[in-house]
Amino acid sequence: MLTRFAPSPTGALHLGHAYSAVLAHDMARAAGGRFRLRIDDIDGSRSREEHHAAALADLAWLSLDWDGEPVRQSHRLNDYAAALDDLRLRDLVYPCFCTRADIAASLSAPHGPSGAVYPGTCRALGAAEREARLTEGEAHCWRLDMARSAALAGPLAWEEQGQGLRAADPGAHGDVVLARKDAPASYHLASTVDDAAMGVTHVVRGADLIASTDVHRLLQALLGLPTPCYRHHALVCGPDGRRLAKRDAAAALAALRYAGADGAALAADLRAGRLPTGYSLRMP
Ligand code: GLU
Repeated sequence: MLTRFAPSPTGALHLGHAYSAVLAHDMARAAGGRFRLRIDDIDGSRSREEHHAAALADLAWLSLDWDGEPVRQSHRLNDYAAALDDLRLRDLVYPCFCTRADIAASLSAPHGPSGAVYPGTCRALGAAEREARLTEGEAHCWRLDMARSAALAGPLAWEEQGQGLRAADPGAHGDVVLARKDAPASYHLASTVDDAAMGVTHVVRGADLIASTDVHRLLQALLGLPTPCYRHHALVCGPDGRRLAKRDAAAALAALRYAGADGAALAADLRAGRLPTGYSLRMP
């Protein structure tokens, strides 16, 4: 068994991250397996070294130990580019030149599980126009041709721990972005490629990401990658009943750490499902 915890170093880790890390760590350790860290620092404009360093300090404070060196997504861009090339050669992705404003202005944009569904404008461009605009260096991202990809892959499912097989419904997401100029792989592409490359057998993460698993399952099928088991766990919510976010400074692990709180005791409480007063676990 190999599990992982994959924080994005774009802010401080909070109690919700601690809960997720404890579950992933314990699942691996209980099975005599490995627990690895991955730093999801693909977004160069928002990732900060100080958040990366603080995340490692927070996990050590929680008395969680991990195997090997943390994997850094910013060091793995060639692998994401190779996966994108593979899809490009099979005509499963296309360049999209639309700006955010173009998409917002499209009245036909319906909503899917992860926000507005791209209306498909650039899917219809002819090969000559596409080539010309790429050659001119026009800003673009790469989108998955969802209808084509989903048809090619056929029906898909994954094993959700404790629940059995769960059907994947990637089609509802529309033509998701797999790469941009400023971020050479999207979360969907990088996470799927890395979970396979790291040999992750069990993905433990918040239930807010369950819809993303629809897309990850499809990418696994298209790229010939193995499908791990998943456990999408309940989310830690603050006193306002909303799930924790970066705005909840009081729940930041570094704040608790600096205030002299006992990290190992906090991890033991989270393990037992006990949260500090005012916090609760909820399924979204
Ligand atoms: N970096 C992602 C996040 O923090 C990881 C999600 C995942 O575990 O796949 O939301």
